[in-house]
Amino acid sequence: MVDTAVIIEKNRDRLKMAKQPIYDVLIIGGGVSGTALLYQLARFTDLKRVILLEKYSDVATVNSHGRNNSQTLHCGDIETNYSLDKAREVQRTARMLVNFSLGLPDYDQWLFKHPKMVIGVGEQEGQFLRQRYATFSADFPAMRFILRDEIAGLEPHIVKGRKDAINAIAILDEYTTVNFSSLSKAFVEQAQAVSGKQVELALDTCAGKISKDGEIYQVESSKGRYQARFVVVCAGGHSLLFAHRMGHGLNYSCLPMAGSFYYAPKLLQGKVYTVQNDKLPFAAIHGDPDILVPDKSRLGPTALMTPVLERYNIRTLPEFLRVLRLDMDVIRVMWDLFKVPDIRNYILKNMLFEVPLVRRRLFLQDARKIIPELRLKDLEFASRVGGVRPVMIDKQARKLHMGEAKIDTGEGIIFNMTPSPGATSCLGNAEGDLRIIVDYLGCQLDKTAFAEILLGENGLPLSNRDIA
Ligand SMILES: Cc1cc2nc3c(=O)[nH]c(=O)nc-3n(C[C@H](O)[C@H](O)[C@H](O)COP(=O)(O)OP(=O)(O)OC[C@H]3O[C@@H](n4cnc5c(N)ncnc54)[C@H](O)[C@@H]3O)c2cc1C
Repeated sequence: MVDTAVIIEKNRDRLKMAKQPIYDVLIIGGGVSGTALLYQLARFTDLKRVILLEKYSDVATVNSHGRNNSQTLHCGDIETNYSLDKAREVQRTARMLVNFSLGLPDYDQWLFKHPKMVIGVGEQEGQFLRQRYATFSADFPAMRFILRDEIAGLEPHIVKGRKDAINAIAILDEYTTVNFSSLSKAFVEQAQAVSGKQVELALDTCAGKISKDGEIYQVESSKGRYQARFVVVCAGGHSLLFAHRMGHGLNYSCLPMAGSFYYAPKLLQGKVYTVQNDKLPFAAIHGDPDILVPDKSRLGPTALMTPVLERYNIRTLPEFLRVLRLDMDVIRVMWDLFKVPDIRNYILKNMLFEVPLVRRRLFLQDARKIIPELRLKDLEFASRVGGVRPVMIDKQARKLHMGEAKIDTGEGIIFNMTPSPGATSCLGNAEGDLRIIVDYLGCQLDKTAFAEILLGENGLPLSNRDIA
């Protein structure tokens, strides 16, 4: 027997849906990745309706908040964990960020210059930096190889009390530091300033189930259902969870790596990085001025495996357990990590960095590699500072997948996972999405404006990622 009430309900639903607009693109997640994409879609395509759903009451309050990351514009010159190819890639996207910013009158609200350097301590690291300088300086002409006296002139507290030999690669006059939350707001402002388009920001709107009905995606949310022809999920660690729910990216698991920081008095003028231990997959600590706490230097980040997708948000524990998809492959990857003594000790040490009574004393040993005369009483754990890097575990390859990951389903939906240097790469990642969207929806891309505004006159696009 046909239930009349059900038919009436279904028709009411259909009527309601028919009244709702169908967006060209719907973005989930208002961090720096999602807002960069919103900007690119509004500014460089002829798409008319774009919407971004963000579950909190403002954009960039999670990992893209200035308090929760290292505020570094990674250019590849002082990050010794980057190969030359990786360095060239991040240099290009860092340049896009600078080009975007310098085109706006208020760029000094989020983009800053500090001197920066990576120090080589002792004979082995010193030799390593010499070689790196020889290999990298052609691509990074602002690099200078400097010795103890010059380092002392720039950063006296790095040299004071240091017995070991020291040298450095320094870059003295470039943009180095970004407040990624202010940048995200600038992206939204610029997107909404484009005339003749409907560019919506739906705050306090938590996206839930996504399904596809014919060619159209239906996205359930705390504020009702949205419809779109294309969906991009830029929800940090949650992106993989969305993918899993739809049967995508099942060969990936997520290992959230939290990073904490410590404050010291303002002893550093600029960014001071250290040479990476190549046995460790996580970046070495550095020190720099904190743009949000002007009278302090900040040291970190640490690398703590943590069972939540958002730092200090225990409600994301069940989501972590779902996205972990613990099985023998994940256990094998973890076991392989633990088997290496350097990694095992590093993981354990980083756990102790969180234990109140011992953490400052332990961290002091690492911090003194940067500031040798730092005293215990100068060091303070930065409470509720630091976010989470959603590092992917590739279960097929049985290894960690460092850096950003994108799942392009080819079906009009993309999932972005963005550990460091994901904030620097926001415009580069968005460019990748833009190209996929333009192909899928068959819309127009204003290549000239893109090249002028983002690649800049002197932009050196990498041939394989250039706008064709
Ligand atoms: C300790 C640390 C230091 C770092 N340092 C640097 C650095 O110096 N330089 C650099 O380039 N990168 C750095 N990173 C990485 C950088 O912070 C991230 O790559 C970047 O912020 C990721 O931006 P995002 O927009 O992809 O994610 P997020 O900023 O995490 O934004 C995701 C958004 O999605 C929203 N969201 C989640 N679920 C939903 C849902 N269901 N519905 C609606 N919205 C949802 C969240 O509320 C959030 O606003 C660092 C990261 C950490 C943790």
